[in-house]
Amino acid sequence: MDLQTAEKEVKELHQLLNQYNYEYYVLDQPSVPDAEYDRLMQKLIQLEEEFPQLKTSDSPTQRVGGQVLEMFEKVQHEIPMLSLGNAFNEQDLRDFDRRVTQAVGEDHSYVCELKIDGLAVSLRYEDGLFVQGSTRGDGTIGEDITSNLRTIRSIPLRLKENISIEVRGEVFMPKRSFEALNKLKMEREEEPFANPRNAAAGSLRQLDTKIAASRNLDIFLYSIADTAQLDVDSHSGALRFLDQLGFKTNQERRTCETIDEVIQFVQEWTEKRPQLPYEIDGLVVKVDALEQQEQLGFTAKSPRWAIAYKFPAEEVVTTLKSIELSV
Ligand code: NAD
Repeated sequence: MDLQTAEKEVKELHQLLNQYNYEYYVLDQPSVPDAEYDRLMQKLIQLEEEFPQLKTSDSPTQRVGGQVLEMFEKVQHEIPMLSLGNAFNEQDLRDFDRRVTQAVGEDHSYVCELKIDGLAVSLRYEDGLFVQGSTRGDGTIGEDITSNLRTIRSIPLRLKENISIEVRGEVFMPKRSFEALNKLKMEREEEPFANPRNAAAGSLRQLDTKIAASRNLDIFLYSIADTAQLDVDSHSGALRFLDQLGFKTNQERRTCETIDEVIQFVQEWTEKRPQLPYEIDGLVVKVDALEQQEQLGFTAKSPRWAIAYKFPAEEVVTTLKSIELSV
């Protein structure tokens, strides 16, 4: 491809991805499946690798999340809320492991977790009391949604220890609540939500807290923003500490010593995924030792010590299943 054609394609991809981001993050109403968005994003990443002069700072590849709604107070994230790099197949996971090994050596282990398909939030506690909760927003500035988060019963308003801490997690809507909500919306001749993720996001960004309270939202916490002052030296240790404080973490996590064990975890959850009472859109693999995480560092958009494995599109899975059945 010549530079001129690439430039034209890049421009078209910017326009499309910006539009899809707006629909997804601002309107909570995506018009295309996530797999289509991911395909276009990968295309843009490849073009930018091939033609680095076309990579601009406002490219969708360089940005986290979407715009911040004006109707909420803004919250500055002292520690940015980043996105995750993606893996779509076994090879991508092995490439990730190779990069990690190059940086920190052979001696490392991973924590594998479910990638909950919801909305990232940050919760701030002072002396054990819940004082502020916010959305990820654009990663640096989020929306203050404290009152809506206070309606989620699994968010402790007081911790088991009187410490000051900021923690991060994913708010989600269980499948059953999503189905009941969409049934109700259809009865009322309202537009149904496209998926539980958008339903959760739409519920949290309501000005009327009664609406969020009625939506049966839940949360899993998956990280501590700053572990510097704590007696924690691994991600698995941080998760155990969250449990001790009274937070809800996802118990389906597993420590894996090798990338083969990680791939085994991916295969298991690709099978078991439909049995879960909530939606996951993939799995997250994180280097366990915090010292090694520090060595690996970050890109502009995501940590180098973690990767999100994304499941193939549902449509594709369904087609494969129906082919299997008809044979
Ligand atoms: P991401 O979904 O690829 O991954 C980052 C997010 O994963 C984190 O912010 C966190 O919220 C979440 N997460 C869930 N479980 C986690 C765990 N255990 N540990 C750590 N993080 C966990 O990145 P993103 O920037 O949030 O969203 C991009 C994705 O959103 C796209 O790849 C696409 O699938 C979807 N999207 C779709 C459209 C559309 O139009 N359909 C538009 C924009 C984005």
